[in-house]
Amino acid sequence: MEDKSQTQSQQERSIYDMAVAQLNNVAKKMNLDPNVHEYLKYPKRELTVSIPVKMDDGTLHVFIGYRVQHNMALGPTKGGIRFHPKVTLDEVRALAMWMSWKCSLVGIPYGGAKGGVICDPKQMSKGELERMTRRFTSEINFLLGPERDIPAPDVYTDAQVMAWIMDTYSMDKGYSVTGVVTGKPISVGGSQGRKEATARGVVYTVAEACRHLKMNLKGSKAIIQGFGNAGSIAAKLLSEEGAIVVGVSDSRSGIYNEKGLNIEDVMAFKQETGSLQNYTGVTKTDPREILEYPCDILIPAAYENQIDETNAPKIKAKIIAEAANGPTTPEADAILHDRGVFLIPDILANAGGVTVSYFEWVQDIQSLFWTEKEINDKLKEVMTRAFANVLKVHLDKKVDMRLAAYMVGVGRVAEAITIRGIYP
Ligand code: NAD
Repeated sequence: MEDKSQTQSQQERSIYDMAVAQLNNVAKKMNLDPNVHEYLKYPKRELTVSIPVKMDDGTLHVFIGYRVQHNMALGPTKGGIRFHPKVTLDEVRALAMWMSWKCSLVGIPYGGAKGGVICDPKQMSKGELERMTRRFTSEINFLLGPERDIPAPDVYTDAQVMAWIMDTYSMDKGYSVTGVVTGKPISVGGSQGRKEATARGVVYTVAEACRHLKMNLKGSKAIIQGFGNAGSIAAKLLSEEGAIVVGVSDSRSGIYNEKGLNIEDVMAFKQETGSLQNYTGVTKTDPREILEYPCDILIPAAYENQIDETNAPKIKAKIIAEAANGPTTPEADAILHDRGVFLIPDILANAGGVTVSYFEWVQDIQSLFWTEKEINDKLKEVMTRAFANVLKVHLDKKVDMRLAAYMVGVGRVAEAITIRGIYP
């Protein structure tokens, strides 16, 4: 299904250029002060590090890693760390900028950051992964801290990786600093509900979108691309809400059944075999082709640039909720908007992750922990309020949902910069 020109255009597109183009668009729409606009185009800091690691076979491999802090006008910077062979500085820059808008959109006191290491964790032993994580942490250590910059999980990093980051930072300080990273295991200062938070936030926004569109979530058909942390848990929570999950995909395969998939069973199969590839009793698709199958709700939860001008015209969903960051290109955005698809943009849809990360940081700092119900109730409140704010701008200003979300997110960062003034 994937044609060569598509793959090439995906590789050539600078994601950071796309992020700046989005900022330019929103700046124009909201008559943003040109000086503040100029300020926001550039990351505040970016660090590239080499990470020498002793591999299990005795050789030395030097990995390359990045940490980018986009803006800290609202507070310490916050953003995930990604381990992936295709990580680039350009991508990390864009993701850091999106984090600035996302944190401000949901009203949490953070600026935006992101990190990444070019590596293939699937090909590494646990020991190699630990040594790489610890050396990377050590190389970027001076940028980190609960009051400075707080990493979290992203693609192919998990609670274990966060625990290694926390431990390495703490070894350097000489005491335990749990608040330096979020998404940790519960036993070392993690929060109840953090693992499910991104997906739960997605589902809260989908429920709000259904309410707005007078659609019934119960009985609606859903497809999810990407079956990792965000995607698989979104599938599970949606099916618990009574939606019928008809298709899911991972990096190797898509599976579809118009009558609905048994998500618990699919999750167990993925856990056991590491892939959806050999799952039986379903129609097999290409991982990206699944986006075009019939459904009411589509959740891209894998990677950037998955919906572009080639497949946007073929998408059948009424609602798209972007669990992934940057899954839709600007060209596809225009097509989807013209076709009347209701899009819940990434900085809104997937903000549940950073919101519960914020709750985790608050709990670590005060050393007082909340129950899962308290976390989920507070998350629902934040997501519902953020959705309502964006919907209001969408309806009042007659702009699409992405532009509306950016207007809220960029607007608050711009206000903070203006009030603080430019040093010196
Ligand atoms: P993950 O590593 O847990 O899962 C990624 C999944 O995507 C895997 O199942 C992988 O097999 C699949 N995948 C990779 N390429 C694919 C392709 N071409 N087609 C279909 N599936 C493919 O990562 P995650 O944490 O779930 O993150 C997924 C997306 O959600 C990313 O864009 C990430 O930035 C975003 N996100 C995650 C969080 C979070 O808290 N985990 C928060 C906000 C945003």
